[in-house]
Amino acid sequence: MTMTPPLRARALDLIGNTPLVRLEGPSREAGCDIFGKCEFLNPGASVKDRAALGIVRDAEARGELQPGGCVVEGTAGNTGIGLALVCNALGYRCVIVMPDNQSREKIDTLRALGAELVLVPPTKYADCNHFVHTSRRLAQETPGAVWANQFDNTANRKAHIETTAAEIWDQLEGRLDGFTCAAGTGGTIAGVGLGLKERDESVTIALSDPHGAALYQYFANGELKAEGSSVAEGIGQGRITGNLEGAPIDTQFRISDEEGLHWVARLLREEGLCLGLSSGINVAGAVALGRSLVAEGRPAPRVVTILCDTGFRYLSTIYNPEWLAAKGLPVFDWLRRD
Ligand code: PMP
Repeated sequence: MTMTPPLRARALDLIGNTPLVRLEGPSREAGCDIFGKCEFLNPGASVKDRAALGIVRDAEARGELQPGGCVVEGTAGNTGIGLALVCNALGYRCVIVMPDNQSREKIDTLRALGAELVLVPPTKYADCNHFVHTSRRLAQETPGAVWANQFDNTANRKAHIETTAAEIWDQLEGRLDGFTCAAGTGGTIAGVGLGLKERDESVTIALSDPHGAALYQYFANGELKAEGSSVAEGIGQGRITGNLEGAPIDTQFRISDEEGLHWVARLLREEGLCLGLSSGINVAGAVALGRSLVAEGRPAPRVVTILCDTGFRYLSTIYNPEWLAAKGLPVFDWLRRD
């Protein structure tokens, strides 16, 4: 029997409702079923399309964003791409503030999508000229503008409660034992965690934290403390953001870039999935969670994680042997030139 893909009334409706795929290698390693939510299939090729749409819809509902208005955000990554597309679809201006040391591709991508870019010199968060503070000020000074504020605006996690969590639950017909992912803003882990716990308190929610982030220590023993570093983009948080407040985290894993890259490589070569490093870190976390649920004696546990964005966004970084070697990271076998 073939399944007919759904008809969508307009392009914005392509955000969300992503497929869930069983991951063969990770399932074999964990000894149970591991599923990946295919967020790289969103129009902006990342999970952040959901937050972008949620934040814009919330600002409209509160009357803050009027027809022809403007959305301002400080971001160098996927949120800017999501906001640029959503703003185009709804007729808003989109202004993105970012540090001027970001990769050429990021600047070119946002510009190509029609976002207005404001480039500022990189500086520490405590400096009032930091790109996040600049974006807040710019929003305040621009008539008809709203500040997306993805870290502390809980419209971000609400989008995941209402869409991502609900979809996962329906796709697995309520039969799942664990969920894990890493945190950037924390919108995904908190929103999916809250949404799943609403339906079944016994689903284990695990944080998969990269090195260099402070949340592993926070959830393990209450202390915001970072160790090591990571080259993963979009994840790694040093504070309890508004979106992370009250997140129902039951357990946590610390995942190295090497472990994440191991899964990025295997998912590409064994399953034909080209993903970014945060997805690899999530899958490493899902394997760890699956193993621990098996060890606890849960019968045939099912674990879900997020495949956050496409690897095509990282051709100059994790798919580039010179870049990997310069960072002291293992080069993928098939890219080795020696
Ligand atoms: N992976 C990537 C590639 C991202 O861009 C982000 C967003 N910052 C995340 C993971 C984490 O998502 P969240 O902000 O919902 O924690």
